[in-house]
Amino acid sequence: MRPAILNPLFAEVAALKGVGLAQVRQLARLKITRAADLAFHLPTMVIDRLAVEQVDESLVGRPIVVPLTPANHERGGPRSPLRVAAVDRGGQWVDLTFFGQSATWAQTKLPIGVEKRIIGKLDRYGQKLQIAHPDVLAMDSPAPPPLREPVYPLTEGVTNRRMSQLVAEALARVPALAEWIEPSVMARHQWGSFTAALNAAHRIEGGLDRLAYDELLANQLALLLVRADTRARRGRALAGSGRLVQPFMAGLPWQLTNAQTRVIGEITGDMAQAQPMLRLLQGDVGSGKTLVALIAMLTAVEAGTQAALLAPTEILARQHLATLTKLAGGLPVRIELLTGRDKGKAREALLADLAAGRIDILVGTHAIFQEAVAYDDLGLVVVDEQHRFGVAQRLMLANKARVPPHVLAMTATPIPRSLALTHFGEMDQSQIDELPPGRQPIETRVTTRARVEDVIAGLSRHVAAAGQAYWVCPLVDGTEDEDEAAATTRAAFLKGRLGADKIGLVHGKMKAPDKDAVMADFAAGRLAVLVATTVIEVGVDVPGATLMVIEAAERFGLAQLHQLRGRVGRGPGQSVCLLLRGEELSETARSRLKLMRETNDGFRIAEEDLRLRGYGEILGTRQSGEEAFRFADPERVQKFVTVARDDARLLLDRDGGLDGARGQAARVLLYLFERDAGVALLRSG
Ligand code: ADP
Ligand code: MG
Repeated sequence: MRPAILNPLFAEVAALKGVGLAQVRQLARLKITRAADLAFHLPTMVIDRLAVEQVDESLVGRPIVVPLTPANHERGGPRSPLRVAAVDRGGQWVDLTFFGQSATWAQTKLPIGVEKRIIGKLDRYGQKLQIAHPDVLAMDSPAPPPLREPVYPLTEGVTNRRMSQLVAEALARVPALAEWIEPSVMARHQWGSFTAALNAAHRIEGGLDRLAYDELLANQLALLLVRADTRARRGRALAGSGRLVQPFMAGLPWQLTNAQTRVIGEITGDMAQAQPMLRLLQGDVGSGKTLVALIAMLTAVEAGTQAALLAPTEILARQHLATLTKLAGGLPVRIELLTGRDKGKAREALLADLAAGRIDILVGTHAIFQEAVAYDDLGLVVVDEQHRFGVAQRLMLANKARVPPHVLAMTATPIPRSLALTHFGEMDQSQIDELPPGRQPIETRVTTRARVEDVIAGLSRHVAAAGQAYWVCPLVDGTEDEDEAAATTRAAFLKGRLGADKIGLVHGKMKAPDKDAVMADFAAGRLAVLVATTVIEVGVDVPGATLMVIEAAERFGLAQLHQLRGRVGRGPGQSVCLLLRGEELSETARSRLKLMRETNDGFRIAEEDLRLRGYGEILGTRQSGEEAFRFADPERVQKFVTVARDDARLLLDRDGGLDGARGQAARVLLYLFERDAGVALLRSG
């Protein structure tokens, strides 16, 4: 429940002075629905005005406040602006121009002969000085002339002045709040109160560091609470007997890498505890996560339970099934696939076997957690490439098991440490930071689109030598001037050059079965070139493909380019990635492509992407419009998240948790930043 002290701040905007239905709708366009949203709606800049008694040429281009006396009103025609000629105290003329105002309006607002305070930017128009769209104040107005005015993001129908009023009213609703930050942290940064910081931020006079810290503290508290809650549940200790893992390892054609051995130890160590595991396994593309997942799943099966592997797409689910079946060939385990496409009798039989415990490992898309799907005894869930696998999904899945299952999430997206803390801070982290031996680093080259003919000639030679290749385009269909970046156009073109039977095409607009069929043909070597959009980004594994061309590479995010590039270099041969770029590139685009050429280090690339493009790009949440933080930009996250983590831990472990004195204040913080949702959800679940 929200602390009562925050009720005025979280009132609907309709409760504010003069806010009617129309204004409610206007504000909603800015995602402002409550007073709190206004209090958190920060200006982007501030206008500094000069108060002067007279105008002169030297002031042109400056925002000013000046007393002027209107001398006459004139309008050139119905479409031209209303013009009020006014004169300053030294006799200098200035035209005041207004669009869309009536003469009557001007007569009341700017009566002839009455001096007013005029506020606006002084311009020159031909020979004359003018101020377009000035604000007008009476000389005896009690409000001081606005010399420093914050400029807010606006929407049609809400002027900056109106927004300022609304914000001021919202800020007045911020109550006096007990301090939630650790005193030593406050002292180190010489921070003032939350309220002071918020008010300063509205004047663009600092405050943002503290607000970002507050937001991160709320984030870390929520994550630690979720974590504590998960830990408090009784799971089940799953100890392997070695019955499956030992013969499996004995039959494996290679040695595990040191990193694989280490993370397997971390994972099976967790699984042997009665607390449910909640672990994130990070490992760059090709680092061998699937093998690690399989060993974890075999361990769960040895312990007498079932395991499920959740893949983000049908293609990947099928591929996982194929890989797992091959790897586990000869072992007495039954691995099956369930996707949304399975229907009828076969599906019924599969579900019956699952419920009876005759299936050991189930691979699939979200279908594997649908209501109709019942497990006999689910002990481990592996989640592949689901960055958005949040608390709600985990709850849903917990309902599938007799006791909360162990959860292992896997991602090939290198997640910078700061981001791992803010977005996966409730999980333990494992990292495979080493590739299997014998891999040659992918060679990356950048070339301009003008040289596409050379590239096609190279592709021809590659194909003639029985090589396979990917050709990636940013778009599915061509728009008028960007045909060359569209997959369909490019596929048709390459068919003309290399032969229709050699070229396959996959993109997101295709039906899943069609997509799968093409992928299967490519994987089996029946197609030499796969033209694709980013649908091939994650997981697709065709070791024979050693050439990748990425067209209009500057349009992709760095992390995305890295993921795409990871589709090649999966076998022992030397792989090449060609980044085709447009002629005109910005400085940033140029340096991004240069970085891709220089490094294969996914973490370095992710850090850079984070710096350049923010969180959405890496977590794939950009499209969903979900912003991670209001105040904590990537730089501030990096600066403060570790301290916030320690501070949150201190509060929960030493300062008496949420019931201690600081904890009471922290409850308010959690609600202020609306980080209470996850916690409440878990409590009720
Ligand atoms: P990821 O899922 O992390 O991208 P995969 O599990 O698909 O990586 O592994 C990439 C390739 O490396 C696969 O073909 C896999 O069989 C192989 N592989 C995995 N572990 C090893 C190892 N220890 N030594 C050699 N090859 C390995
Ligand atoms: Mg994989």
